[in-house]
Amino acid sequence: MSGHVYPTRDVVPIEQNDQTMVSKSLVTQSMDFTAPRGRLEMGGLLIGHIDQEGTINVVTGFFPEQLKETPGYCRFSGSWVAVAASACEYANSFSTGEGIPELRIVGWIHTHPDLGLFLSSTDVDTYSTLRGMVPDSKFVAVVIDPLRNQDGVFPSERLPNTFFPASGEPDLGEGLRDRYHHLLDRLQEVRTAVGTDRMPSILPGDLRDERLASGDADDSVSALRESVHFLKGELWKTEDRIASLEMEVKTTKRGLLEQIRRLERRVISLEKSKGHGIMAWFTNQ
Ligand SMILES: [Zn+2]
Repeated sequence: MSGHVYPTRDVVPIEQNDQTMVSKSLVTQSMDFTAPRGRLEMGGLLIGHIDQEGTINVVTGFFPEQLKETPGYCRFSGSWVAVAASACEYANSFSTGEGIPELRIVGWIHTHPDLGLFLSSTDVDTYSTLRGMVPDSKFVAVVIDPLRNQDGVFPSERLPNTFFPASGEPDLGEGLRDRYHHLLDRLQEVRTAVGTDRMPSILPGDLRDERLASGDADDSVSALRESVHFLKGELWKTEDRIASLEMEVKTTKRGLLEQIRRLERRVISLEKSKGHGIMAWFTNQ
């Protein structure tokens, strides 16, 4: 699953789309997790459900290990689609009450650090491939620019410059909420089995507080905290460099002043001496 970006024009923000609800919390967690990575792109999968009105509800997701990540490209293994589908299947085996929507893969998220919001031609191809993997084509792409703090939900790959901001809050009944918890439990189990490097972030969306209370790690806040420590370290190194440069400047200034004084003394002594002009001294140097 890859996203390759380059600038395009004619960006068209649109109003909220009533066919799609993307959790604002989920997008905020994605921003917090990916912002410390700077200009490296990252992609992940989004999990949700289709409600009785047919609206796509994007509720949770995760970022797997990136096989390739550059300032204009990211790719993760397609095998994560199977991992996500299997976790959904597991969750759907619980809370089998009537009318509770099934959890499924509903979207793809990737970052455009400091590049803005649009779908590149590669994004359009990836979007189309992923949409083809779901039975009813109900699938959305979310692009976030964590360095500009922008996000866009792209309802269709046919409109690569048309998007709206994520602003939703899912309305989860008890049974559905229970399913999401089973899904997140399974994703945590997968992460324990494969390691954090292979599954760097699980995004609980609006279930965050409950998940933290039950002992899940807070990936987004941890990433932000690590980046604060890193930046503090960089700041101290810079301060040390500035202090050393200041010392160097002081030493150079002292040396130059001494040279100037020596030259002044020499000029005065030459002016005083008979038969030797200043110019003669300079010419002889
Ligand atoms: Zn892209």
